[in-house]
Amino acid sequence: MELMHKRKWIRVEKKYVVLCICALSLATALAQSAGVDAYSPKELERMAQPLHAQADAGNGTASRVLANYPGHYTMLIYRDKDGEVEVHQRFADIILVMSGKATLITGGTTQNGKVVKPGEIRGTSIAGGSQSKLEEGDLVHIPANTPHQLLIPPGNSITYITIKVETPAS
Ligand SMILES: [Zn+2]
Repeated sequence: MELMHKRKWIRVEKKYVVLCICALSLATALAQSAGVDAYSPKELERMAQPLHAQADAGNGTASRVLANYPGHYTMLIYRDKDGEVEVHQRFADIILVMSGKATLITGGTTQNGKVVKPGEIRGTSIAGGSQSKLEEGDLVHIPANTPHQLLIPPGNSITYITIKVETPAS
């Protein structure tokens, strides 16, 4: 009898722990930074290191949100394979390249585009877009609703910051 009680208590406790973890992750995801956030290139490079293994274990891209603010947020992204075509209906992307290189295709028409979540379209390639070479120190602004894709030359990778800026619906 006593053992049964004990087991039940353990089960309840586990459930409680899971709930706590969920609540904590949700709070972290929604948390907005109210202060000044500054990152040195060294610090960003250190934060990007774990993304390399994550990218290799997945589809060649890994990212993390650095901080959320009202109407915008910052992301650190690493890619060592071509990305998908992205169209963000409600966000402009401001990209700052930290290291590596890539070819950025923008504009044109998204091929095999599908809505993956509200306001977000992904595709396989771009027809009729324009190309630009990206390298360390480059800064690019991609308006909302503009198809864009990063192609990575074989054996290369790119590490960059994207500032996602919410734009009014047009
Ligand atoms: Zn994008």
